[in-house]
Formats: sequence, C-alpha cells, structure tokens
Amino acid sequence: MRDIIIIGSGPAGWTAAIYAARADMKPLVFEGDEPGGQLMTTTDVENFPGFPEGILGPELMGKMKKQAERFGTEIKTERVEKIELQEDGTFVVTAKGETYPAKTVVMATGATARRLGLESEQALYGKGVSACATCDGFFFKDKEVIIVGGGDSAMEEANFLTRFASKVYIVHRRDAFRASKAMQERTFQNQKIEVIWDTVVEEIYGVDVGKVTGVRLKSTKDDTTRDMNIDGVFAAIGHVPNTELIKAFVDLDDKGYVLVEKGTTKCKTPGLFICGDLQDSRYRQAISAAGSGCMAALDAEKQLVK
Ligand code: NAP
Repeated sequence: MRDIIIIGSGPAGWTAAIYAARADMKPLVFEGDEPGGQLMTTTDVENFPGFPEGILGPELMGKMKKQAERFGTEIKTERVEKIELQEDGTFVVTAKGETYPAKTVVMATGATARRLGLESEQALYGKGVSACATCDGFFFKDKEVIIVGGGDSAMEEANFLTRFASKVYIVHRRDAFRASKAMQERTFQNQKIEVIWDTVVEEIYGVDVGKVTGVRLKSTKDDTTRDMNIDGVFAAIGHVPNTELIKAFVDLDDKGYVLVEKGTTKCKTPGLFICGDLQDSRYRQAISAAGSGCMAALDAEKQLVK
C-alpha cells in the first residue's frame, strides 16, 4: 500500500511529486503516454517566475521532472485505466492491467484541447487540421493557414505559425479578442496575420483528396457564407478538463471542472486531491497549476497523519 499516487505530469503533477517526495511519502507518478501536459506544445514560457530570459515549455517540464526524480519519485510512463475506491477509503489504481493500492491519490490530469466538432475536422485531423501549432507548424512552410479562436493561445499560435506560413488568418466568432493586451499588440503588429472577425469555420474542404484545401466560413452577424482556399486549420478554442477517471468520486461545475473545497484541493471523496487545470477554469496558468500541486501534496500529507 503506497502513501500517494499522482496521476498526471504537468506543472501540477510534478510539483505535487516534489513536495510529496521531500516529505518522504515515496510518490509514484503516472505520467501518461503523452507526458508533460500542455507545456509540451508551448514554445517560450515568459511568465514562469525564476526564468528571466524565458524558458521553452518542454525544457521547463524536463526540469520539473528531474527535480521530482532527485527526491526519489517513482515514475511510470503509462496511462491509468481505472481508479477504484475501496470500502476502507483507500484506492486501487489500474494501469496496463497492473493494480496499485494507495492511501491517497492526487489527480493532475489537466485539460485537453477542444475541437471545432466538425466531421470534416475529424476526417482531416493530421492532414492539415491540427490543435497544436508548435507540433505541426513546420509542415506549413510558405502555406496559408487559419487559426480559430480569440484567446492567448490563438494569438501565441498565430504568431508562432508566421515563422513558417506565408499568411495566417485568425478567424474569431466575435469582434473582440479575450487575449491579454500584450498578446493582442504582438498579433496586430505582425504583418503576416490578418483577422477575420465575427466568423466561424462551418466546414473544412478536402476530405475527398485527403488534405485540407479550403474552408466554408460563416458570418456570426448575418449567417452569410463564403468559401476560402486554405492549406491548414488550427483550432485554439480552449480546453476540456480530463475528468473521465474520477467522475464517480467528484462533483463538477457547469463547465465540467471539478469542484473543490474552497482554498484546498479536497473534493467530496476523502483522500482524493484535485489540482491543476482539472479544478481551475479561471486562471489555467502553469504557475497556478504548480501552486495547486503543492497544495495537493500538503493536503495528502495531512490526511495521512490523521
Ligand atoms: P480561452 O482563453 O478559453 O479562449 C478560447 C477562445 O476560443 C475564445 O476566444 C473563444 O471565443 C473561442 N472559442 C471557444 N469555443 C469556440 C468555438 N466552438 N468556436 C469558435 N471559437 C471558440 O483559451 P486559451 O486561449 O487556450 O487560453 C486558456 C488559458 O491559458 C487562458 O487563461 C490564457 O490566458 C492562458 N494562456 C496564456 C498564455 C501566455 O500567457 N503566454 C498562452 C496561452 C494560454 P470567445 O472569446 O467568444 O469566448
């Protein structure tokens, strides 16, 4: 029976592991089969304190993992299939058919990029449709692409894509961005970016030829539509929290995020602690996720000494 199992390997998961390992709780981290979380698909992180020159997302995650390992964290690069609650209040975590009993579980599985929800998007995924500019931008050298969204991610990805693409259109459903002023400024100053306001992507063309050839755009003002030739479509329209494993043990808010007791990482199941983007629809920053990972480890430690 382990003291603590941590599921997820973004800033929340690794911070929980660092604190738990230093408290001699001998944590086991399931980092999943796509380790590192959302920062793995980010370029420069300029707002994580301690890195005055900025740091690349994957490098930051690598450092956090190393720090957790330094204090004896055990790591499995596996995806957890199931979590069961036992009658005595302990947990059994299953991954790759193996079972792992634990007194406490910290959930740090984060959130996944939201899709536009078009059949053509699904059919052309990886064939010109992507949700990750940093992963796939390179394939669009001298091509024209669309980014859908009006948040910081859309701005960041649009700017990043101009390194490769000849033209980047930001398609946004309203007439104002929700992105921070600094990100908006950077976007408006970029000559390669053009904004198409009050518009959504209604259809992606190219399913018949196996690659994106264009889109049908629809005005959100008057419902008029028009076709546009394009080589790639990137969605940057927010995220959905990954609550699948713990649905039976927690309450969710109206956006699908886990409800925690105010000022803690406790949910309605004692011994289960929720941190990072799973419980934060508001801030969703690497630093706030890391902070809540620390809280989860401290909450778990307190539970163990009860
Ligand atoms: P977000 O802030 O939730 O923005 C999502 C955008 O997508 C919004 O503009 C939204 O439009 C649009 N949208 C949502 N669903 C849509 C749909 N079905 N069709 C068309 N458009 C849709 O998400 P995010 O940009 O990923 O940012 C998430 C968090 O991470 C934020 O807190 C952000 O500040 C942070 N972040 C920070 C940085 C940085 O500081 N370097 C970089 C990236 C992200 P509406 O505006 O109309 O709702």
